[in-house]
Parts: sequence; C-alpha cells; structure tokens
Amino acid sequence: MAQIQRRKTVTVVVGGVRMGSDAPIVVQSMTNTDTADIASTVKQVAALACAGSELVRVTVNTEEAAAAVPHVVEQLDKQGIRVPIIGDFHYNGHILLIKYPACAEALAKYRINPGNVSVGRKNDDNFRIMIEVAVKNQKPVRIGVNWGSLDQVLLTKMMDENSLLPDPLEAREVTMEAMVVSAMNSAALAEKYGLRPDQIILSAKVSGVQDLIDVYRSLATRCVYPLHLGLTEAGMGAKGIVASAAALGVVLQEGIGDTIRVSLTPAPGGDRTEEVRVGQQILQSLGIRSFTPQVTACPGCGRTTSTFFQEMAEQIQTYLREQMPIWKGRYNGVEEMKVAVMGCIVNGPGESKHASLGISLPGTAEDPKAPVYVDGRLFTTLKGDKIIDEFRHILDEYVESHYAPQAAEVVRGVRK
Ligand code: SF4
Repeated sequence: MAQIQRRKTVTVVVGGVRMGSDAPIVVQSMTNTDTADIASTVKQVAALACAGSELVRVTVNTEEAAAAVPHVVEQLDKQGIRVPIIGDFHYNGHILLIKYPACAEALAKYRINPGNVSVGRKNDDNFRIMIEVAVKNQKPVRIGVNWGSLDQVLLTKMMDENSLLPDPLEAREVTMEAMVVSAMNSAALAEKYGLRPDQIILSAKVSGVQDLIDVYRSLATRCVYPLHLGLTEAGMGAKGIVASAAALGVVLQEGIGDTIRVSLTPAPGGDRTEEVRVGQQILQSLGIRSFTPQVTACPGCGRTTSTFFQEMAEQIQTYLREQMPIWKGRYNGVEEMKVAVMGCIVNGPGESKHASLGISLPGTAEDPKAPVYVDGRLFTTLKGDKIIDEFRHILDEYVESHYAPQAAEVVRGVRK
C-alpha cells in the first residue's frame, strides 16, 4: 500500500466504524429510495452494504421517513447487516429528531446542513436542538456544508466585506472561504452546545474539481475534525466518475480525507451500488486500500481481430467481484491479488509476469495458444475453446494455495 502521510485528526467512531487519522478511509454511499418505503430501503441498503459500503446514509425528510428509520435498522439487523445508518436532515430535522426519538436513537450519525437548518430564523435554535439530541443520544454529527445551499446570510456578509477591501478577492474565492467559515462556525457552535470534537466530522461539498481541492486544502489546515470528501452532484457515467476521481485523487494523495462518497447520478433503472465500487476503485488505484483483486487488461489494437480478450477480461473481472464476498471471509489478503488479461505477445508476457497470475492471449498471426504466468513464471499454456474456464480454474487454485485460511477456520478445521 502507498505510504501517504495522513493528516492528523481526532478519531470519530460511527456505529463501530472508526474514522480519522490512522483509521482506514471509509467508503460510504446514500440510498435513493423513499425512506418511508421500508422494504425498498432495506433492500437497497443491503445491496450497498454487500457492495462494500461501510456507512449508508438515508434521507430523513418527512415524519413517515423518521418513523420508518427504526424499522429499517431492525430489519437490516435481522438479516445480519450491521452497516451504520446515517440520517440526512434538512429544514425540519429539529422537529423530526424530537418527535421521533426512536429514529434519533436508531441512527448511527446525523448529517446536518448548516445552510438550511435555520432558514428564515434569526437565531440558531434549530441547529442547537439537533445538536442537543445528538449529545443526549451520544451520536456523532457530520456538519455538511454544500455550496448549493450555503448559508446566504454569511455569504452576503462576506461578499459585502470583501467589496470594501482595497483589493477585493474574486467572488469564487469568497464563496470557497464562506464554505470553510460556515463549516468551522457550525462546528464551534456544536461544541458550544455540548458535542465533543471527536463527535464531529466536516464536509464542504462543491461540484467543481478545482473548487473541491481548494476548499478541502483550506479546511484541512484549520481543524482537527475528520473530513468527509465528495464532489456534490458529480454527474452521470464517465463524467461523474472521472471528475470524482480527479478531485478526490489530488486531496487524498495529500493525506486529506477520512471518508469518501462518490455522488453519481445513476441512469434510469441503473445500479446504485456503482458509486460504492467507484469509491473503492479510487482508493485502490491510489494504493490506499485494497478491496478486490485487480484485473489489468490491455485496450486491444490492430493486433487483435476478435473481442475475445475483452470478453475474457470482463468475465474474469465479474468473476472476481462475485467471488469476493465469499473469499473475503475465507482468504487473507486475496483483495491484493493482481490478474492480467492481455491481447497479444507485445506486452502480454511482460505484463502477465508483473501480475500474480496473467494470461497472454494470441494476437493475429500468432500461434493459437495462450501462455499463463503465475508469480512471474510460465505456468502452463492453454489452447482451444475452454480457455476462460481453464484460466478460472487456475485462478481458484491460486487463491486456495496462496491466501491462507483465517485463524478461526484453522481452529475449526474448516477448509472449503
Ligand atoms: S498487448 Fe498487444 S493487443 Fe494489447 S494493446 Fe498491446 S499490442 Fe495491442
């Protein structure tokens, strides 16, 4: 794993999950179901947790949603899914948390957006009430500033002050500073109302890559709270993935960020768990954490006349992903395995030798045979139309022989 010097923070525990300082950077996600629809919400939380989400946020926007939260947590518990559930509150959180104490108790953390908890008010009573509920229930809080709902009173004041300066800053710079000030002021208020520093996480989400980098660099130097990273409204498909990876990659490399979320917009009927896999892939690509064995595949070129190697790379990647929930509990370190599926002799053998195991498929004008390399050495050569099945078999044997069973299984003498 990469030796990145993490920023020093206090450690916050959310439903048993540690975050901050030397704790692993946590991948989280958010449902898009109506939380009041208990069955759908349970199903989606279970899918997100199964994909590897270590915290799952649900919206708590109505009385029905607040009433449903304890049932969602209870049903997940019955299914053996213990992922901490975070409640996302806006506008009426102070009412819901008081009126539905079982919701306040069942949630592992509250997310409060300081830009809209006290809309239309002259004081911070709504914010105070929510913090007091958190203190009473001993729940951590993420103070999540979002530039789409930034405290307009604060922003206007800062813009006015800036305009009076002899050399005013650009509006963008004032807005980024207002994000940081809003987060810091709200954290100070939360501490004033009784929350401990190790119960506070901050985020300041923006939708531009450079804005995210600037705002988190600034925030990181001004507090000891763990930071939740994410590009808000990252967008759909490749755009959302690339923008999130570009933004998070820079700040994570600088040791900033203790928990991440990739806010992708799924295609209609799309798979919500994609945001979990992308978050994991960002951390794994940076060498920060390993989640699943990686497949290195060449892009293909004029030396490959068929799509066979693309299909094989995809099938192997899918197979690895499907096996991981089983392997994870059985084989130590299997997530660090590297598999290469290459299209021809040019880079095939070389890349395969760098992987734990790799296969170099024949390109055009090459003999129809595929050498397989294990730990850098030629292991066997495959031919015919069963290459994928045979390679998968070698893969299974590699996992079985290279990743020792966990201690508990050794004690029980179970080795499947
Ligand atoms: S390994 Fe061969 S098939 Fe793949 S991109 Fe390189 S030259 Fe093309």
